[in-house]
Amino acid sequence: MKPRVLEILKKLMAFDTVSSESNMALIEYVRDLLLTQGIESLIVKDASGKKANLFASTGPEVRPGVLLSGHTDVVPAAGQAWTFPPFAATVQDGRIYGRGSCDMKGFIALAIDAMLDAAHHTLNRPLQLALSHDEEIGCVGVRRLLDVLHLAPMRPFLCVVGEPTNMQFVLGHKGKGSYRTYCRGLEAHSSLAPRSVNAIHVACDFIAALRESQQQLQRHGAQDSDYDVPYSTVHVGQIVGGKALNIVPNLCTLDFEVRNLPADNLDQFLEQLRERAEVIVQEAKKLSSVAAIEIETVNTYPGLDTHPSVEAVRFLKQFAAPDTGTAKVSFGTEGGLFKQRLDVPVVVCGPGSIEQAHKPDEFIEISQMDAGEAFLHGLLGSLKA
Ligand SMILES: [Zn+2]
Repeated sequence: MKPRVLEILKKLMAFDTVSSESNMALIEYVRDLLLTQGIESLIVKDASGKKANLFASTGPEVRPGVLLSGHTDVVPAAGQAWTFPPFAATVQDGRIYGRGSCDMKGFIALAIDAMLDAAHHTLNRPLQLALSHDEEIGCVGVRRLLDVLHLAPMRPFLCVVGEPTNMQFVLGHKGKGSYRTYCRGLEAHSSLAPRSVNAIHVACDFIAALRESQQQLQRHGAQDSDYDVPYSTVHVGQIVGGKALNIVPNLCTLDFEVRNLPADNLDQFLEQLRERAEVIVQEAKKLSSVAAIEIETVNTYPGLDTHPSVEAVRFLKQFAAPDTGTAKVSFGTEGGLFKQRLDVPVVVCGPGSIEQAHKPDEFIEISQMDAGEAFLHGLLGSLKA
């Protein structure tokens, strides 16, 4: 790994960019660094003005570029037992320890270094950098940037999302929808329970419907044996309801998620679920008209399914280590959104392992940084005119 890459990585890791915090200082650092080599950045702020995405491009504007994409936010370190300082890069025993080292400031440091290099050469295609915020809370931040890039006259030729994959080519992941459901009933003294609508009972019926839909997905939905769980999944993660044992509860709230194979349509699933909810509500309304099930979408992001034979994958394979395989993963990335909004082929490939992400004493192997550097070096070499 070049000393400059480590220097950049140390700077990046020193910024506390936990998703709840501003990432502006990091974005300004990158903008200023790129500007030292004459590369201008487009900054796309969020509604609060406290967070921003960055997009930069170097090379001929008239041709589609190779886009390197990463998220600048990290998950919290608070409450975890760290032996190393989380917001600093500690180099020890062939590893770099610290929050974000593998997820995913290591890749960002390599990508920035490649951009700085690229500025010194005449390129036949632009090299581009996209940095987002709020990825860890559901791929929230990048959407504003995609709104802008979607309207740009030239779309990228391919996009590399540098999430930690041990430099393997990840071509697919499931999409995800998260939902909050309000089940409403009618309060009453519990001695009169059968005359009222118990919101928790309504929620139980709804959960039964969810579990039934899971079975349907398992039996009749899309199947893909490349995944640990080869079908779309439905899961209730949280439920809150009731005030006291002697009161028939009027509200029960539950949170559920769907992780769908790209071939299973999330909107269609939700439509069918609403129909099932309606049947439950109609039954409950025989006792009280206030009975209701309201499903609110909290967040969704699409899955990714890049075909291994597309030109972009074959092009990138030239610069990868000979033993590089293709895989699908269980975690989500911004890749699905890049594909959906820009219609660009996406390969998720970056140094480090997801096994080390989100944990105390997160680290990246320096050998992985070296592998990432070699990959981007080859890629940049091919862009030189
Ligand atoms: Zn990540």
